[in-house]
Amino acid sequence: MTRKTVGQKMKIPVLIAGAGLSGLCVARTLPRGSYRIFEKEETPGGLCRSFWKDGYRFDYTGHLLHLKGETLTFVETLMGERLREYKRRAAIHILGRKVPYPFQAHVGFLPASLREECLEGFQRVCGREVERGNFERWSRSTFGDGIHRLFMKPYNEKLYRTPLSEMTADWLGWVPRPTRQEIEAGGRGEEVPSLGYNAVFRYPLGGIGVLPEKLSEGIEIETRSVLFRLDPSSRTAWIRKEETKEEIEIRYTVLVSTIPLPDLLAISRNIPDTIRADTEKLRSVGVYCLNVGIRGRTEPYHWLYFPEQEYPFYRVGFYHNFAEDGVPAGCSALYIEISYRDRGEIRGECHEEIFAGLLRAGIIEKREAVEVVAPLYLDFAYAVPTASSTLAVKRIREYLLQRGIRTIGRYGRWAYTSMGEAIGEGLREGQRIREEIL
Ligand SMILES: Cc1cc2nc3c(=O)[nH]c(=O)nc-3n(C[C@H](O)[C@H](O)[C@H](O)COP(=O)(O)OP(=O)(O)OC[C@H]3O[C@@H](n4cnc5c(N)ncnc54)[C@H](O)[C@@H]3O)c2cc1C
Repeated sequence: MTRKTVGQKMKIPVLIAGAGLSGLCVARTLPRGSYRIFEKEETPGGLCRSFWKDGYRFDYTGHLLHLKGETLTFVETLMGERLREYKRRAAIHILGRKVPYPFQAHVGFLPASLREECLEGFQRVCGREVERGNFERWSRSTFGDGIHRLFMKPYNEKLYRTPLSEMTADWLGWVPRPTRQEIEAGGRGEEVPSLGYNAVFRYPLGGIGVLPEKLSEGIEIETRSVLFRLDPSSRTAWIRKEETKEEIEIRYTVLVSTIPLPDLLAISRNIPDTIRADTEKLRSVGVYCLNVGIRGRTEPYHWLYFPEQEYPFYRVGFYHNFAEDGVPAGCSALYIEISYRDRGEIRGECHEEIFAGLLRAGIIEKREAVEVVAPLYLDFAYAVPTASSTLAVKRIREYLLQRGIRTIGRYGRWAYTSMGEAIGEGLREGQRIREEIL
């Protein structure tokens, strides 16, 4: 039987739910005593944590920093010497060969007939207006039918498990769009190494988990503390301390929630039916991340994309090429990602299918080389943006905002955003609260 302790009641100006990057950055900006920050896990960091298993250090799948502007300066100052810079080495594994990333700029690395199909398709759309009705139309009208058929469609449908015609296109500004000259140069087999937001990335010595550790300095985080009930109308939240089973009732002025929107709505009382109906429209995919430690050295890449169905995974990354201090000498560490709609789709035998795929792709030479396995389920990994979900998110966030609840971060905003954006958003939100509330 679970013990339950009836606990305290209190009033505070700011309650922060979740100590991932966005929640931590809000807390850093606020004066001590003005807020409390609660985190359900034992350690802060959310998706940006690292852990050790049998001599290997793994992340909650590869987390590489793509930073610019003020956020870059902020992280550089915070991390100092620990922050290392890397030039991307990434490719698309297709037809048994590796086409440098981004695919659309390197079609010259394909067999001749496919190269021609891609170049002709691109010529047909070049200079024409891009269609923004949905992801599929955007992709065809931006890159042409060949690039769409060979990469954009199979890769993105494998990741999002959704027909691209059902997804919106207004969030795709980050997808590298080569110029006509670059596509033509790539068509001749020349490499365009500096294209895209991730041509250079940063990663800290000690693992990505060092970032939230540094952000947490000076902040009193209450871990193993779960926000389990919320009444937006009366601005009241209930926190359960997992250690003692004590329940705390908190009246707040502002709640900053970084927890996934569907979870927040699920624990909320007195929500109108229209908002409940909107919550049903939010779709997402989870990511099963199989971290593995391997005896011997494997690929020189940082990561590889796998658009083909014959491979169960959509991406494989190689920690030993950017996090070498977390991998035993002479060994390799990989993160292998499979997306799912439902955890039940990830069957026990998928590990053997994964290893068979790694063997077929030439990434490992023998099954016995795998010596450590550390699987993780990331349940709300990618929001799937559809026309109805975009409107629903807007209405839900507005409804909550009117009741003092600011939903931020990748899962509070229910958007495709990076660590850099989580940091920037958290710092800005903290600043706003200082100015408006405190
Ligand atoms: C597969 C994958 C790969 C990625 N790769 C990259 C990358 O290479 N580069 C990059 O920049 N970004 C990457 N990202 C995005 C990055 O992880 C996020 O943008 C960032 O970590 C979001 O931080 P956050 O604080 O908004 O959310 P989170 O990290 O999810 O933090 C939310 C926190 O809330 C806590 N919480 C949840 N429910 C409760 C509750 N009821 N009570 C209390 N606490 C609760 C959680 O435990 C968590 O700590 C990737 C994301 C995924 C899914």
